[in-house]
Amino acid sequence: MELKELEAYALEHHIPIMQEEGLDFLLKYIKEHQVKHILEIGAAIGYSAIRMALLSSDITVVTVERDSGRYQEAIKNIKAFGLEKQITIYHMDAFDLELDETFDFIFIDAAKAQYIKFFEKFKQNLATNGTILSDNLNFHGLTKEPDKIESKNLRALVRKINNYTDYLKTNEEFITTFYTLGDGIAVSQRR
Ligand code: SAH
Ligand code: MG
Repeated sequence: MELKELEAYALEHHIPIMQEEGLDFLLKYIKEHQVKHILEIGAAIGYSAIRMALLSSDITVVTVERDSGRYQEAIKNIKAFGLEKQITIYHMDAFDLELDETFDFIFIDAAKAQYIKFFEKFKQNLATNGTILSDNLNFHGLTKEPDKIESKNLRALVRKINNYTDYLKTNEEFITTFYTLGDGIAVSQRR
């Protein structure tokens, strides 16, 4: 199995895997900061988890996916890459996932409307000097002018993403740097 096949599958089935530019940033960050133990929220077909695990055999990823079809596909892909030892995937809603371990890196890439809740839930699993990275804060550029969005549901979603950005900007526990690359990335660390 090759990464290109996963990318083609994602494109064909409209699975929002991380964009190359954002992914490059994420992978570079993991390498530069010697991140070893990663928690990912939102596995989809396992693409980003596989990309992270392929960086080094001493990197481990715990990830979670609630959709059955995507979970099955992820299991298949993780096996095809021989990464079963490095990647643990749970099939459940992330809000039901209770973990005792701490991670030096948490990647939030699941339902955009729930980002504040994901952050609040999983910050307890973050090592003291750990980093939380959130993806899709620009949401295809829509976050700039939410009032112009005609669809009510989409407008509500985009407002929630903007609420998350405000939440990070005003967070007293974490300091966040925002990057406009990819679909918009936030990197948060404890103050
Ligand atoms: N990180 C992946 C893409 C994830 S797409 C990659 O870049 O390759 C987001 C995924 O999060 C979707 O497959 C969706 O089903 C899942 N998801 C959304 N909310 C979730 C939740 N509350 N619990 C578990 N999975 C969730
Ligand atoms: Mg994403």
